[in-house]
Amino acid sequence: MRRIVLASSNPGKLAELRALLAGHGCEVVSQDELGIAAPLEDGDDFRANALIKARHAAAASGLPAIADDSGLEVDALGGRPGVHSARYSGPAASAADNNQKLLAELAEVPPERRSARFRCVLACVRDAGDPAPLIAEGAWEGWIATVPRGAGGFGYDPLFIGVADGRTAAELTAAEKNRLSHRGQALAALGGRLPEYLATARS
Ligand code: IMP
Repeated sequence: MRRIVLASSNPGKLAELRALLAGHGCEVVSQDELGIAAPLEDGDDFRANALIKARHAAAASGLPAIADDSGLEVDALGGRPGVHSARYSGPAASAADNNQKLLAELAEVPPERRSARFRCVLACVRDAGDPAPLIAEGAWEGWIATVPRGAGGFGYDPLFIGVADGRTAAELTAAEKNRLSHRGQALAALGGRLPEYLATARS
């Protein structure tokens, strides 16, 4: 079983990616378990930030690393919060703070103009200087609810409706969310290529 560092400290994402990677012959260790601090995410887009995180974790651990960068794009807000999703309402923002701000910003926006999507870019590097990272993307289309609902998932899940029956992502089971989500899609695209890619890693 090949060891790979997951360059994320977000427990919600860790749980999802661990479950999704378990089927691909990878033993996942989180960067927190190895005492690796998160780098500054100052890239302009999801891909740049995913690569910053993956290269940083690979450099600090000497192991291959995989990182996810993701966020919510709301059409009525010109694509915000986008790469700033985690800190939308401030540097120490909680998910509840961010959801409250999103609802306030969309207060005057009618249902038919509340379209949005979650995006995810996964980047895998075999070592810090890897010239050929493995990249995969996923997008989950939906819309923003008017009140938060559900206790599952994390982040914006209580406000994001990505299934036709109107349940929010926080009302889906973990398996349902993984099947539909931006992260699930990106990992499905990456997963099949991962064993062969990692077989050429030095560590
Ligand atoms: P990152 O750690 O910089 O990639 O932050 C991504 C942020 O986007 C998270 O902190 C959440 O606020 C939001 N986000 C990404 N994926 C999801 C999801 O699956 N559900 C809910 N919120 C998400």
